[in-house]
Amino acid sequence: MTVQQAAGPDPYFPANGDARYRVHRYELALDYRPGPNRLSGTARINAIAGRAPLPEFQLNLGDFKIGRIRVDGRQPHYTHRGGRLRVRPAKPLRAGAAFTVEVHWSGNPKPVASPWGGLGWEELTDGALVASQPIGAPSWYPCNDRPADKASYQISITTPSAYAVVAGGRLLTRTTKASTTTWVYEQSAPTSSYLVGLSIGKYQTVLLGDPGLGGVPQHGHIPSDLLPEFSRDFARQPAMMELFQDLFGPYPFDEYAVVVTEEELDVPVEAQGLSLFGANHVDGARGSERLVAHELAHQWFGNSVSIADWRHIWLNEGFAKYAEWLWSERSGGRTAHQHAAAAHRLLSTLPQDLRLADPGRKSMFDDRLYERGGVTVHAVRCALGDIAFFRMLRGWASLHRNGTVTTATFTSHASRFTSESLDQLFEAWVYGTRLPPMPSAETGIAV
Ligand SMILES: [Zn+2]
Repeated sequence: MTVQQAAGPDPYFPANGDARYRVHRYELALDYRPGPNRLSGTARINAIAGRAPLPEFQLNLGDFKIGRIRVDGRQPHYTHRGGRLRVRPAKPLRAGAAFTVEVHWSGNPKPVASPWGGLGWEELTDGALVASQPIGAPSWYPCNDRPADKASYQISITTPSAYAVVAGGRLLTRTTKASTTTWVYEQSAPTSSYLVGLSIGKYQTVLLGDPGLGGVPQHGHIPSDLLPEFSRDFARQPAMMELFQDLFGPYPFDEYAVVVTEEELDVPVEAQGLSLFGANHVDGARGSERLVAHELAHQWFGNSVSIADWRHIWLNEGFAKYAEWLWSERSGGRTAHQHAAAAHRLLSTLPQDLRLADPGRKSMFDDRLYERGGVTVHAVRCALGDIAFFRMLRGWASLHRNGTVTTATFTSHASRFTSESLDQLFEAWVYGTRLPPMPSAETGIAV
């Protein structure tokens, strides 16, 4: 059984994204005033029509006032309702044609309501934060909001000079004029819209580790009163970076930044080249170190190797969960096998009605998906043995770097690393709901 790649609307979020065209670059010029929470912006979007002529297309954008819109310099017809900006160019776009869309918008950004709470732009007591997974990106910019549509980004943000702006990617320039500062970031790696992260706040910036020759620059942006706790809690992140590069292959982006906001967050959130943590995730006692590993691992699994649509989210979360266990194993804590056994015991006490390969929208962030995802990766390790398993993982990260994948892409990839059939294993762990027995290195393919 395989899950086909979505060619049309996302099965979980049919109102988001438009598969009839793709974007290859966004240039966003934004002006943000934290006090009144006022955002105005201009987007220049370079896109390419798909295989069919495009009489109209859709962008997703929240509840803003729309100013000027142009398609290839000409005024189109458009409607803007329910977070969808439907644009009908003066002349239909030819199949395969490159085109440029320009959108001006302004208003008070607010989170997109979802079953998991507000997503996307969030106004903080003193600043703002963007964490969009899965459908929060339209809360602040017009986008083709589907994970498979990956584009490069240039983001320019002007805001009062007291605030620091942190976005994923490389800081190109920072220019102060009168009382405002403009920060320009370039993210050249193909990035899914939900992974464009942003933080505006009063931060102190520190360098983590020593990038040295060929090392990955890692910065932390923290409120200064949390610096002592942060310094201890994130001290081992450079060692994690080294371990993950050993196990998964080269870090996929140019740099990595972590932000700790002065407010609490339910969970930390990954973005491209950036992870966002809440004040509650630093305690000076490494209480959340597994999450530091989890978010870093997403840079390989989820961000660089992205899912084609949300049915495949276990490929992000199961692998990030397993990376937590690998970090534990390699840093003197419990072994991955012990973690997997504990997760298996927990899962055996919970309802067995969740299917990893297509859990349904309601269950995509269910804890069981994370735990079962981790144990499933462990089952693959037991079946392949360590040498083939880590070759398989490195191959997965390098073959699909900057690409998009499905569950079927993974099962056929993993199957190339053993002469034994993995069909039964995947049928039970990925496509079934009943919990298979705990895998072990001795039994190999335990189902
Ligand atoms: Zn995660």
